[in-house]
Amino acid sequence: MEIARNGMTREAIFEKLAEFRRNDIKWQEGRTYGYVFDPGKAVVEVGKAAYNAFLSENGLDFTVFQSLLRLERELAAFGARHLRGDKQVVGNFTSGGTESIILAVKAARDCYREKRPEITTPEMILPATAHAAFHKAAHYLGVKAVTVSVDPETFRADVEKVRSAITDNTILIVGSAPSYAHGVVDPIADLAALAQENDLWMHSDACMGGFLLPYFSRLGEPVPDFDFTVPGVTSISVDLHKYAYTPKGASLILYRNKVYRKYQIFACSRWIGYTIINNAVQSSKSGGPMAAAWAVLNYVGDDGYLEIARKKLAAVKKITDGISRIDGLRLLTRPDMCLVSFTSNDVNVFHIIDEMNRRGWYIQPSLSFDNSPAHIHLSINASNVGWEDELLKNLAECVEIARTLPDGELIGLIKGSLEGVDLSAISDKDIMGMMSAAGVTDGALPSRMADINGLLDALPAHVREKALTAFVNDIFSQP
Ligand SMILES: *Cc1c(COP(=O)(O)O)cnc(C)c1O
Repeated sequence: MEIARNGMTREAIFEKLAEFRRNDIKWQEGRTYGYVFDPGKAVVEVGKAAYNAFLSENGLDFTVFQSLLRLERELAAFGARHLRGDKQVVGNFTSGGTESIILAVKAARDCYREKRPEITTPEMILPATAHAAFHKAAHYLGVKAVTVSVDPETFRADVEKVRSAITDNTILIVGSAPSYAHGVVDPIADLAALAQENDLWMHSDACMGGFLLPYFSRLGEPVPDFDFTVPGVTSISVDLHKYAYTPKGASLILYRNKVYRKYQIFACSRWIGYTIINNAVQSSKSGGPMAAAWAVLNYVGDDGYLEIARKKLAAVKKITDGISRIDGLRLLTRPDMCLVSFTSNDVNVFHIIDEMNRRGWYIQPSLSFDNSPAHIHLSINASNVGWEDELLKNLAECVEIARTLPDGELIGLIKGSLEGVDLSAISDKDIMGMMSAAGVTDGALPSRMADINGLLDALPAHVREKALTAFVNDIFSQP
């Protein structure tokens, strides 16, 4: 684009922006089970106002913006308390779970560089359900990710498999509380004990559950320990922009004490310019997310969050019971929180998703990987409460429609054409050829995604990654 020569009017700008948003998902209706965590208008307004109030303050320098230092210290202190840490626990505010995780992996890497200098290729052990952000951290930081299968029944980390994966190069073990895909809490206490036995760093990834699980526990749910009460847990990531409903760009990374956190900090005086001292990955950053997080936490309040948790818990029970009664659907497991995963033995789940989508629902596809089948994921949030009956009714109908839809022919054709092809050397051109056979045209996606999801699902992970990269490299181009 070219920027408007004489500027646009406010009115014209907002008209245009609204137009850009026209085809976005209609999350405001409460039928979106992912991506948006919506606490309702009143809370959103408070978050927006606080965000705007601190929009221009720059977290680059907390000595100049002491308000931001104050906010960050208070938020970290809240996190430490919420996760039952003692006075030694310290932490920082980050832009999200991914940044918190990158920082934890960096801190572990740098800690072990000092502690075990003989390790030149550090490894971290990831249950297959550990969030992709750990693979990103591995990729960025030169740490090798060693993935181990989770238990095929419970989908929780298999402690014995983790034990067998430990080598002389291992520095870090990861567990999730809960995992995104199946919403179950790993045996954090056993993993942390294993880490202690072997003098390793243990990260408890509570991006999803760190805020909400303590409330579920107060409501009488049997929540396994995952926090600083567990001996051996070194660091914990907990997102605020998920179940604390604060505006996006809000997470905390917490450490058992300053000795560990020190390795997260980056200082630089080897250039000509201002002194750089960063707690996090970002340098210049708006104070908005931090002020908004502080505001929303205090506006909703402890009782308010407990009440929201109670409603979500009831909704999860209704939805999981309902799904297990629908002919053709099967829960992968009973979740520990409010992330639900289910599949079908006889119907293509990607068709079910497309049919639901046509009816205004957003439910998320999850590709098969290792011992987990392709499935449908729901992250249930406050704005979904009240839609349970309607959701179940529509699901049951969509399963029946999905049964009648043609299935697997295209994938069969593509698979046939790949017979004998060396997938490790497949070119971007061949990949884009397959993608266009599945319905991708000129960088645009079809409204029905079943063929594309089916194609991706049929490919091995490294080819999926190639396909996704080629696709994205294509769509982010000049309009
Ligand atoms: C969401 C999530 C993350 C990553 O968080 P982002 O805020 O999307 O960067 C990490 N771990 C788990 C378990 C998550 O659910």
